[in-house]
Amino acid sequence: DEPSAAAAVPQAGDPGLVLLRRIGTVDPASLDDYRAQGGYAALRRAFELGPAGVIREVTDSGLLGRGGAAFPTGRKWQATAARPEQPHYLVCNADESEPGTFKDRVLMEGDPYALIEAMTIAGYAIGAHRGYLYLRGEYPRALHRLRHALARCRTRGLLGEDVLGQGYAFDIEIRRGAGAYICGEETALFNSLEGHRGEPRSKPPFPVERGLFGKPTAPNNVETLVNVLPVLGMGASSYAALGTGSSTGTKLYCVSGTVRRPGVYELPFGATLDELLDLAGCERERLRAVLLGGAAGGFVRPDELDLPLTFEGTRAAGTALGSGVVLVLDESVPLPLVLLRIAEFFRDESCGQCVPCRVGTVRQEEALRRIAERAGSDPHGTADDITLLRDVGQAMRDASICGLGQTAWNAVESALDRLGAYA
Ligand code: NAD
Ligand code: SF4
Repeated sequence: DEPSAAAAVPQAGDPGLVLLRRIGTVDPASLDDYRAQGGYAALRRAFELGPAGVIREVTDSGLLGRGGAAFPTGRKWQATAARPEQPHYLVCNADESEPGTFKDRVLMEGDPYALIEAMTIAGYAIGAHRGYLYLRGEYPRALHRLRHALARCRTRGLLGEDVLGQGYAFDIEIRRGAGAYICGEETALFNSLEGHRGEPRSKPPFPVERGLFGKPTAPNNVETLVNVLPVLGMGASSYAALGTGSSTGTKLYCVSGTVRRPGVYELPFGATLDELLDLAGCERERLRAVLLGGAAGGFVRPDELDLPLTFEGTRAAGTALGSGVVLVLDESVPLPLVLLRIAEFFRDESCGQCVPCRVGTVRQEEALRRIAERAGSDPHGTADDITLLRDVGQAMRDASICGLGQTAWNAVESALDRLGAYA
């Protein structure tokens, strides 16, 4: 077993928290404790509203997916619920593998019943009777706690043939990933669940139409699902009043790197990067850059820290919020080696199905290695390699099948254009 990531949450018990409010205060092994702290009130409200009413609330709340792509959750659920083909499936994507991302782990380890309740509500809304929880293989503590919680829910009538005596049948199966980053891509995840190689499928058709086993499926990230509890708990309009008009609610941030208090932080959308870095204890004088949104994201410079953390604001600023990665780099960190490490990661994790990504990630790594090894000794050679990187990066972005290849050059491009790397 390994140390619990929940211990890294700096503000546990803070009354302003929405998603983390029970973390560190609730006993993750106790269903009674969960219920005593408000658990299962949202599912009761869901049964009062009916499936269409739940989807309406989620749509009106403005909830956007927290896996990284910010797709409207209500729209995804509505599209799945409306399909005539049966059965429908709910898939919780808990294969959290974006480098620097560890928020879902904290939620699953610290408040496992919340995810189970939220999955039950989602299943009810989209007309599914079976949910799959695809869990990152390297999260043994989360596995243990979720398994225990699922068993308790079954014996207490919160899962099974007749959930809460409401005539609704629903159960959840956990499947463990085996360490492949690509299996977090939703269609590769379906292939993995079906027993095939974890290779992405072409989209469209989107999963809402043809997903797991070819049936209508709603794939949702852990944090997205857990947000449904406050949406139903406080009502769509109160929830939508949190954050900004286009990015509603709160967001979990995974702060790591050269800060004094790394960990998971929860803030309403619209808080600035500067405020977040204050909480995490970042020394501004030594700050070189912040990588936002993970390896597929982009860099923010020290003079840009007033950036409001919203999906729309970060996009407009040429970076991305993604799944909430905030990787802080001070002057002691050699940027060329960070970029090389990112390139190695994508080369290693490419599934190899399509040429632009299979070959492009290798060429990108080779060029970055040459640049790092030269260490400024051959400016002409480096200029040629930067031209090559731009050509290869564009080809990967334009012609790769899935998000891995399409974004494998984002961080390198951002370092060149925004940080003047190798200048
Ligand atoms: P995407 O934009 O293709 O899709 C986002 C979601 O919306 C998917 O569920 C997709 O099926 C759905 N969707 C999109 N258009 C639709 C339509 N017209 N109709 C119905 N449904 C539609 O993005 P993606 O490739 O699924 O995800 C990319 C993101 O994943 C990146 O932003 C990256 O940050 C993130 N990511 C996160 C992790 C992690 O560990 N959390 C790991 C890798 C990548
Ligand atoms: Fe596989 Fe890369 Fe193609 Fe995605 S882009 S399907 S990871 S080879």
